[in-house]
Amino acid sequence: MSKKVNGKVIDALLKPQSIAIIGASNKSGKIGNTIVQKLLEGKYGGKIYPINPKDKEILGLKAYPSILDVPEHVDGAIIAVPAEATLQVVDECGQKGVNALTVITSGFSEVGRTDLEEAMVDKAHSYGMGIMGPNIIGILSNSEQMNASFAPLLPLEGKASLVSQSGALLIALDMATFTRRVGFEKLVSIGNMSDVNFGDLVEWLDQDEKTQCIALYIEGLKKGRHFIEKCRAARKPIVALKAGISEHGAAAAASHTGSLAGAAKVYKAAFDQAGVIMADSVGNLFDRTLAFSLQPPMEGDNLLVITNGGGVGVLASDAAEKCDIPLKFAPKDVQTELKKHMPEFGSAKNPVDITGGAGVDWYYESVKYAYAHKWVDGLVVLYCETAVTDPIEIAEGIHKAITETGLGKKPVVVSFLGGERSDQAMQWLVENDIPAYDAPDKAVCVLSGLRQYAKICTMDNSPFKIYDHVNRDQALNIINKVRTEGRDALTEIEAKQVFAAYGLPVAETRLARTEDEAVELATIGGFPVVMKLVSPDILHKSDAGGVRVNVKNADDVREGFRTIVANAKAYKSDATIIGVAIQEMAPWGTEVIVGSINDPTFGPTIMFGLGGIFVEVLKDVTFRVAPVTNKQAFAMLKDITSGPILDGVRGETRRDQEALATVISYYSQMISDLANEIAETDANPVLVYGEGKGCKIVDARIILKKK
Ligand code: ADP
Ligand code: MG
Repeated sequence: MSKKVNGKVIDALLKPQSIAIIGASNKSGKIGNTIVQKLLEGKYGGKIYPINPKDKEILGLKAYPSILDVPEHVDGAIIAVPAEATLQVVDECGQKGVNALTVITSGFSEVGRTDLEEAMVDKAHSYGMGIMGPNIIGILSNSEQMNASFAPLLPLEGKASLVSQSGALLIALDMATFTRRVGFEKLVSIGNMSDVNFGDLVEWLDQDEKTQCIALYIEGLKKGRHFIEKCRAARKPIVALKAGISEHGAAAAASHTGSLAGAAKVYKAAFDQAGVIMADSVGNLFDRTLAFSLQPPMEGDNLLVITNGGGVGVLASDAAEKCDIPLKFAPKDVQTELKKHMPEFGSAKNPVDITGGAGVDWYYESVKYAYAHKWVDGLVVLYCETAVTDPIEIAEGIHKAITETGLGKKPVVVSFLGGERSDQAMQWLVENDIPAYDAPDKAVCVLSGLRQYAKICTMDNSPFKIYDHVNRDQALNIINKVRTEGRDALTEIEAKQVFAAYGLPVAETRLARTEDEAVELATIGGFPVVMKLVSPDILHKSDAGGVRVNVKNADDVREGFRTIVANAKAYKSDATIIGVAIQEMAPWGTEVIVGSINDPTFGPTIMFGLGGIFVEVLKDVTFRVAPVTNKQAFAMLKDITSGPILDGVRGETRRDQEALATVISYYSQMISDLANEIAETDANPVLVYGEGKGCKIVDARIILKKK
């Protein structure tokens, strides 16, 4: 199953030289009939070989009883026979030397027949063939004039390609390309992803001359890390709509991190790392795709808005702030020049309000000047239909101003609000390479995407350098010992030993089995101490009255020992109590949490947030697929809303962010190295001290994978 999908396979799927349709039929309404018909209607240029055991001719084409009867080489085969018949057909295609199979047929893993699906892929691989699907509606390519699907028509021509995990949605979007005026080069239905997956297609489309922008509709990835790797390497903008990101159903978890890690947060983190821009609705996917197909990235933060209506200007301004590209006042020279092309009561600040009386000349002059000015990194032109202006003329004026200056140098997007004439004007603009939207906030939002993309292009891609100060064997020894005792939760002491093996700064902690031992350890280590319950059955110690801080003398240690044990018994009568941990009392510091989960799609994933008792209420945390470099760890500190607390608040000095970033980076290697063993972890809290003073992990939790 792990055979690498190569470019030749995808060539044979997305632009085959010739196609056999296995299960072709003369019966109208059958998929095998529709596909032949659609290939003919689309005027596919390659040879088409219908395969059917009975019919001699299908829709005017010579038919063959088996693909083995076709006299010439066949590049790609489309399979539309019932699921039970696929294995034999795959065999025949293999013998024939076909390069790739588009398996339309359903009835595989989506209905529990994973065995059949795997057998089919194994068979295909044994002949060096690749598989798209099964359970797909097919593949459409404008360049090849190939509608190898049961979608009614090839999409409106365009510069983006879309890969969709939902077949029904793909057909719907195909038809919507005409009404939304967003064109596509290729539409690919990916189905069950038994073989070819999203990462493979991103890699291929990135090399495809006809594709400028890659759009994805994703329900669930199969190979998360492969996807991240391929997207990161891609040189074209990638926009993805991810379905199923509600936190509903996030599994009950043993760690804080586990309960905070919903699919949405982890996908968001992975997409950020992959440099994939997230769309939040079907409409938004279209809007962004249009902008990316027609416009360059926005290289700086200076966005200028030109409008003839104050209201839409304010809406644009609000949207700009929401989308992280807040408007700034234009420099004096820009304002002075723009002032010349508006009435006295207009405004040359930003938004530039050339007023309701603005005719085509004012639009032309102000757009031309602004678009050419070096301060302007991106331009949004808004227009509200008025009695004194004609939308089409305005559109032409804007287009002229832009093209005279040099379309494509920096992004420009437009929004017209009005009636039919405004719609026509926008359609004309789109046909002439200027994206136009029916609402000002949409225009601003897509522009912010172009800004985001420029940042992605300069993203730090330096690889993670493996730390060699770690002692992996020591960590594994501790884990193995826990496993031999039949447990899957480490005690705090054991977890700290694993952390320490990875160079993490843990508060010194020793186990006392008796009161006397507790006094002895506290006396050796020095007062004050912290005392904590050690029980594999009670993970949240404070909840059980199992934590005592600032214990100052031997008498209090004795009393503490008895109370902690009594509290634990009262809390959970059958809990195994190993003893009480005696630890150094760490000085006060800012409490943060570092933790991890082992995500089913992306593997070991690290979390950081402000810690303490409010973490689960405030949920102000951020995730990254591990491992993370020091630099990436540092960026995580800035991700969270409460991040500025680490810069020092209320007279406190700046916290030792460098030390914290190092902790996160070491931690990320630990969970990556031990990914086969560890399910979830928490370091909560990690106490962060002032600059140069480091951090201390005072509580540790590790839950093992069930084996
Ligand atoms: P729990 O299992 O309830 O999470 P913790 O070990 O996190 O238990 O202890 C509860 C709180 O006690 C911590 O959040 C921290 O504020 C404080 N604490 C725990 N250990 C220490 C220590 N060694 N030094 C200082 N404070 C500590
Ligand atoms: Mg804790």
